[in-house]
Amino acid sequence: MGILAYIAVGSNLANPLNQVTTAFNEIGNMPKSKLIKKSSCYSSSPLGYKDQPDFVNAVVSIETELSPHELLLELQMIESSHKRERSFPNAPRTLDLDILLYGDLRIDEPKLTIPHPRMHERTFVIFPLQEINENISVPPFGDIAKIAKGLDPENTKRITL
Ligand code: ADP
Ligand code: MG
Repeated sequence: MGILAYIAVGSNLANPLNQVTTAFNEIGNMPKSKLIKKSSCYSSSPLGYKDQPDFVNAVVSIETELSPHELLLELQMIESSHKRERSFPNAPRTLDLDILLYGDLRIDEPKLTIPHPRMHERTFVIFPLQEINENISVPPFGDIAKIAKGLDPENTKRITL
């Protein structure tokens, strides 16, 4: 039995919907891991640097026996295989994979912070997460329904079933 972890998937370059759905399969094929659930895909307008295409976002859950740091490395290898380049914060990207939650573990390192420190303010993370687990709690912010209620749904629309 592995740990239940949640991963945010995002893209806004080079056919984002295709990047995201391909990533679902690649996440399911990581060693010592299996895909449990995937959310619908959502479209969201960019944060921070606005002059770039809209994003496609989704969240998946996996069961994994990888350690959190091993999981981060595997996800970064998938990002690299999608030709992800790191230029500046909030830059357009072919694929971004962020660890949201890893069981109930909390880690506070710059290289790896879990729960993801900005997830509670991002509709494009909270809405798909709520879709695949409506009862989840996100420490220290609390129940997902409560977090979702405080967010403005305007910029995030569901685009696939
Ligand atoms: P962002 O996702 O914030 O737009 P990047 O994908 O370029 O930016 O990630 C920057 C760094 O964030 C990575 O090198 C990684 O080590 C670190 N990081 C910290 N916590 C996490 C997390 N929970 N999931 C993924 N990366 C994380
Ligand atoms: Mg990232």
